[in-house]
Amino acid sequence: MSGEAMGAVRKALFWAALSLAVTLGPMYALSYVPGLEVPLPYWIFAVLTSGGVSFLVAWRLVAQSEQLRRVNDELRAAQVRLRQAAESDQLTDVLNRTAFLKRAEAHNVDMGGWMLLLDIDHFKAINDRFGHDVGDRALQHVARVLRESLRSGDVVGRLGGEEFGVYLPGAGSETATQIAERMRCNIETAAEFAALGIALTVSIGLAEAGRGVSIKESLRKADFAMYGAKHGGRNRISHTARTVGAEGIGPALVHSAASRVSAA
Ligand code: GH3
Ligand code: MG
Ligand code: MG
Repeated sequence: MSGEAMGAVRKALFWAALSLAVTLGPMYALSYVPGLEVPLPYWIFAVLTSGGVSFLVAWRLVAQSEQLRRVNDELRAAQVRLRQAAESDQLTDVLNRTAFLKRAEAHNVDMGGWMLLLDIDHFKAINDRFGHDVGDRALQHVARVLRESLRSGDVVGRLGGEEFGVYLPGAGSETATQIAERMRCNIETAAEFAALGIALTVSIGLAEAGRGVSIKESLRKADFAMYGAKHGGRNRISHTARTVGAEGIGPALVHSAASRVSAA
């Protein structure tokens, strides 16, 4: 008998014993009242009906409640799987755009943080020359590098196409720069793609969030900075060092060839 079945029998026995006690206790007390002696067949009948029937009923109920518990557990696990599927990008397994924004926005705005927007360089050419499957593998590789470069609490998502967003809550400018540079470098040095003759690189735009700058606004600024990195020659990171308003100031890029860091 399995451990679970043994558990059910034990519980049923407990309820049967309780039922017996409730039935036999008063009978026992009554049997002491002069003239109310309980004959032996009554005792046997009471034991069989009270003990036996309540054991069977309790055993059935316990088995049913165990089954219900199992179905409940399966439902809960299915719910978690559904939520994960609804929030994640199927190809890369990072968050999709909607879930990314929601998670980033859930962080304390006062704490601030940095937003990174990454765009794969010349991705269309990779697709055109090596095929869509290789392009898909490149997307998965970039997502893997991003996941591996993050601290707990950081948020990463695929914003669409070959663009990824990374939100670093609580990070300062220096930390964000270091993380972005490490990501850029780890993507560039992927042996798998170098072996195919593919230069897999990303351009990364960085922008500060918090202190009055919403997540969506920081993403817009990071996008602006990312285009700065593209114009600066790609495979580099770029900051927005000042507020970029609706007037659309063009980035004046200052490049450092060694670090590939530029400031807009
Ligand atoms: P740039 O360096 O300026 O960013 O150029 P790019 O070629 O990377 O940018 P462009 O916007 O011209 O091309 C993006 C390409 O990404 C076009 C599209 O076919 C491809 N793409 C979008 N989603 C997917 C996907 O899920 N899988 C694959 N393999 N390709 C995708
Ligand atoms: Mg793009
Ligand atoms: Mg691109």
